[in-house]
Amino acid sequence: MRIDILTLFPEMFAGFLDGSLLGAARASGLLDIRVTNIRDFAEGIHRQVDDRPFGGGPGMLLMPGPVVACAEHVVSAIPAASADEGDKGLDRSARGSAVILLTPGGRRLTQEVVEELSRRERIVLVCGRYEGFDARVGSALGAEELSIGDFVLSGGEVAAMVVVDAVCRLVPGVLGDEESARQDSFSNPGRLVEGPQYTRPREFRGMGVPDVLLSGDHGKIAKWRHEQAIAATHRREAGSSDRPGEPFPNQSPVPTKKAPEPTARAIETTPRSVP
Ligand code: SAH
Repeated sequence: MRIDILTLFPEMFAGFLDGSLLGAARASGLLDIRVTNIRDFAEGIHRQVDDRPFGGGPGMLLMPGPVVACAEHVVSAIPAASADEGDKGLDRSARGSAVILLTPGGRRLTQEVVEELSRRERIVLVCGRYEGFDARVGSALGAEELSIGDFVLSGGEVAAMVVVDAVCRLVPGVLGDEESARQDSFSNPGRLVEGPQYTRPREFRGMGVPDVLLSGDHGKIAKWRHEQAIAATHRREAGSSDRPGEPFPNQSPVPTKKAPEPTARAIETTPRSVP
């Protein structure tokens, strides 16, 4: 998958793109992510990219010229025809390419949208700044608008990082374990959030671990997890601020002495006193 990020602040992406998951996926050739500076496409000695809005109002808007020139340059850099015979003659959209403007008012990013984007061959993300884009940018580029939530950031860079992070972990091979992505919140058919999960120690500050998770009965565990996911989803939809780690009705608050040890791995290696 190829992702182009268009920004006035390319330096913001250095640490992010070199980070563990993305850095490794880029190094292995699974992902081709490039950052282009919009200012390189501005004209004049001052390389101006913003100007005051017509009709008045606070702040500055990104001028359409540099943004559109930058996006067109990046999009036209798509190889004319791939070596693959079947790919010849396909146009931009058929190849799954998309130009996306990050805007607060755009289509809301959800896991469903993330999945859709992860199936595209190519994405161009355009980061706004100041008071945003001149409205003609979207029309000139036939771009979609995408919002990462109902709040306002000072620039599209962090929003682009959110999109890149969420999309790239769905590209086959990027996550070590494909199954883990399928089990994540919003990723199952019912779009349920994940229920509570536990690791060692078996007792933490007087709180135990649900017996079922120690039972070794995979059928029962799967059923329990599904029920917890439904409950967690309902709690969230009801706007509850209950923590998922709070003891549930079918969860013993402290470990019962009778709970069987499922595997050697679950046995603690450090000594502790059990009442
Ligand atoms: N005046 C604009 C806000 C501009 S914020 C308005 O009222 O809608 C500056 C830039 O930050 C935007 O152009 C956009 O690229 C980015 N941005 C801010 N909030 C965002 C969000 N929730 N999702 C995606 N991008 C956002």
